[in-house]
Amino acid sequence: MREGERVEVANGLSGEKRSAFKLPRCLNGFQMTDHQLFKNAVGAIQVGVEDFNEGSPYRLASAIRSLTAGLLLLCKEKLRRLSPQGDILIWKNIKPVLGEDGNVVFKAVGQATVDVQDITERFKSFEIECDFDLLKKIAKIRNAVEHHYVEDGAQIRSAFVSGLTFLSRFMPEQLGVDPVDALDPDVWGVLVKQKEIEDALRQECRSSYENLDWPPLLKSIIENVGCPECSSPLVKQMDVENTSASNAVWQCSACGCKSKAEDWVAKVVSEHYASESFLAAKDGDRSPIEDCPDCGNETFINEISECLVCGFELKDAGECAICGEPLELEDYGENLCSYHRYVMEKERNT
Ligand SMILES: [Zn+2]
Ligand SMILES: [Zn+2]
Ligand SMILES: [Zn+2]
Repeated sequence: MREGERVEVANGLSGEKRSAFKLPRCLNGFQMTDHQLFKNAVGAIQVGVEDFNEGSPYRLASAIRSLTAGLLLLCKEKLRRLSPQGDILIWKNIKPVLGEDGNVVFKAVGQATVDVQDITERFKSFEIECDFDLLKKIAKIRNAVEHHYVEDGAQIRSAFVSGLTFLSRFMPEQLGVDPVDALDPDVWGVLVKQKEIEDALRQECRSSYENLDWPPLLKSIIENVGCPECSSPLVKQMDVENTSASNAVWQCSACGCKSKAEDWVAKVVSEHYASESFLAAKDGDRSPIEDCPDCGNETFINEISECLVCGFELKDAGECAICGEPLELEDYGENLCSYHRYVMEKERNT
């Protein structure tokens, strides 16, 4: 979460909700917020919050689906308003065709509307500022919920808090609507209350590892990925007195899963670099993470030349005995660089 966003919601928490979102009302008018797409967006978010509040496992799963759908509908409403004709920009596939008057118009192909990825691309090309990471985080929690039984609202509370942060900015900035006016007061109240709970829990989690001695990258990966099982950001180390990163035992406060540092770090590193690794493999580039020659985990990070599980550093690999170049990861355990090993091999064979 970006620091700037906290201020807006914090205003809501202190009871000054309305003054937090001063808007040029003349810009939106009634017709804009009267459109069915906008009403459906608000409706889906409200149903999501009500389901969340009810809290039974079945309704929790439904809550996160509705929340995600509602936020995507808000984005589609923005695209609808930007459409040069009708609602053309909300359709996934668009092609130019000749209209009846002989002018070029756009026509939707197929029934699919834009998904998170399409919305991100269109917003970027229209230079619309919005926090795509929040949308991605919410979608990730929704996907995790599809594959797991959700017993407790704690597992998806962070998605609702991210949703609140997202719409608190997006609605006034992009749609000219104050969320306090658009949402039912009870629904708004639930969201603000959950944010208070979540903020307090996150602070408690953070304080459990504030004295840990670890590379800054490891800290940011652990916080960014959250729980490897349920994606909740409420992760903490169990022994708050412990200061050694490799001895830490990590636990998720939302779903309760726990494991020792080695396993936890291997999972979050793999998750953190998943899309980068995928692209690297596709393009034939070097993977951002590799197997560590010392501990064997796939936790050697190329950008810092260090393993995040055992602390092995590439400089420990030494230098080539002939040219003095620092040895690469693949040369570990050798005393020559790959080029000079090749030269020696060739000489031996002639
Ligand atoms: Zn969890
Ligand atoms: Zn290692
Ligand atoms: Zn060499």
